Order: sequence, then C-alpha cells, then structure tokens
Amino acid sequence: MNSDCIFCKIAAGEIPSSTVYEDQDFRVIMDINPASKGHAIILPKEHAANVFELSDETASKIFVVAKKVATAMKEELNCEGINILQNNGELAGQTVFHVHMHLIPRYKDDTVTIGWAHKEAYNDDFAAIAKSIAARIK
Ligand code: 5GP
Ligand code: ZN
Repeated sequence: MNSDCIFCKIAAGEIPSSTVYEDQDFRVIMDINPASKGHAIILPKEHAANVFELSDETASKIFVVAKKVATAMKEELNCEGINILQNNGELAGQTVFHVHMHLIPRYKDDTVTIGWAHKEAYNDDFAAIAKSIAARIK
C-alpha cells in the first residue's frame, strides 16, 4: 500500500468507488471518465507502478479476473466486443501509476479509438529482434 497512491486507496476501500467485483487481490471499479458505457478498470490491491513491478502471483491472476468480469459485461451490456488493455509508461498512455487493466465494452458505431497504424513495409530483422529479446528472458 502506497499512501500517496489514489488507486491503492480505492482498492483498499478507503475511497468509495462503484465496485463491480472484489476479492482478496483485486477490486474492479467503473472508470471515472469512461471510453464507453461500462468501462471498468481492474486494480490489484498490491501497489505496483506498472507491469514491470507487478508480482508474478498477481500477474498470473489478473487475466482470470478480466475474463470473469468481461463475461458478465458481455451478458449484461449486450456489447459487440470488449477491449482488454493495459498501459505501461507515460509514452504508452499511462496516467495513473498503479498498474491496472482496462475492460472497454465496444458497441456498434461507438466513437472509441484504440489502435495503431500497421506499417506496410517493415525493414527490421524480425529474427534478430526475437533472438535478442529471447536472450533476456529470465
Ligand atoms: P491509464 O491512462 O493510466 O491507463 O488509465 C487511467 C484511468 O483511470 C483513466 O481511464 C481514468 O479515467 C481513470 N481514473 C483516474 N482517476 C480515477 C479515479 O479517481 N477513479 C476512477 N474510478 N477512475 C479514475
Ligand atoms: Zn497504488
């Protein structure tokens, strides 16, 4: 628990929130500035600024929670799809530095923008990149 961190306080229940789901490791709440109706964020109760700091134990559980809540959302909201995503670092769009996962329901003709432009021709050497990353995997 980081006493300067708003998501720690929300996850611990010290600041009230619209909670969708809670267990001993996570609290899932409605995003205060939703991209679409039902946009929720999964907050681990453990403080970690980003995925790099997150424990393997919590990392291994978070997608199970995402699946559980996404399934309920799909049934209840009748959305066509759901984006599940997570930002690390300011450049990647992270604005709150307590790791969290977004569940963004998608509806026909919604105005949500998520994505990136695919490069048509990419000159990097895929094999070399794969090999050099692989060498660092612990
Ligand atoms: P990020 O940009 O870091 O991936 O996402 C942060 C998200 O947290 C944003 O979608 C923002 O709307 C949401 N958010 C920021 N502060 C609060 C808050 O105090 N309460 C809730 N419920 N959501 C918040
Ligand atoms: Zn925190």
